[in-house]
Amino acid sequence: MEQHSRRPPNSASPPSAQRSSMPTGSDRTPRAALLVVDVQNDFLPGGALPVPEGDAVIAPINRLMPLFEEVVASRDWHPPNHGSFASQHPGHRVGDVVELNGLPQVLWPDHCVQGTVGAEYAPGLNTSAITHEVLKGTDPGIDSYSAFFDNGHRRSTGLDDYLRRHGIDTVFVTGLATDYCVKATALDAARLGYRTYLVEDACRGVDLHPGDVQRAIEEMRAAGVRVVRTEDVPRVLRGLREMSRNAQD
Ligand SMILES: [Zn+2]
Repeated sequence: MEQHSRRPPNSASPPSAQRSSMPTGSDRTPRAALLVVDVQNDFLPGGALPVPEGDAVIAPINRLMPLFEEVVASRDWHPPNHGSFASQHPGHRVGDVVELNGLPQVLWPDHCVQGTVGAEYAPGLNTSAITHEVLKGTDPGIDSYSAFFDNGHRRSTGLDDYLRRHGIDTVFVTGLATDYCVKATALDAARLGYRTYLVEDACRGVDLHPGDVQRAIEEMRAAGVRVVRTEDVPRVLRGLREMSRNAQD
């Protein structure tokens, strides 16, 4: 439930200004948002729960950011006693699956504890481009892989409301990790009715069991998520603008 937004003072130009300004404005679409999932120190190589090549997502995400009016970043933001931590389950180890308030829960090392360096954004990520932030996993009794809901879909983070309020109908999902939080975010976005793209090279996965990442991508595709690469995004955005112009005519 916890969340806050940070909006730079110069980013709230009205749609009419976006349409008429050249050339930056014409490269933007007001109806699509970039979602940057959990690009945090603890998920990078050397962190508490490192995703292999996790740092490789930073450059493509930074390249994508200027194409979007709305850049929403989520952070895993756990209290020290979070129920997803193996340290909270005596007799269990990292990788074990336990039941947490009626839901299966994979146990992880302590990670992304609120206020720690591990929970900070990865160095090099252009955080000044972030227009809204979602903090998730704040309830010790339930995990939250998706940036939209906890794993039981019991509570919303408010992200759906935020996007709708800003007229967003399309999201491009990036970040860490492909087979957990990125997948859960993309599946929820598709279920909620957003036109959803996974930017494959701007994500990396854990692959706890070899093949997990590939299976995650297939699951997303089956749910209607379109899989693209960073270099495809400008073309896709042009197509969307074309579509919305035609709809207005
Ligand atoms: Zn977590």
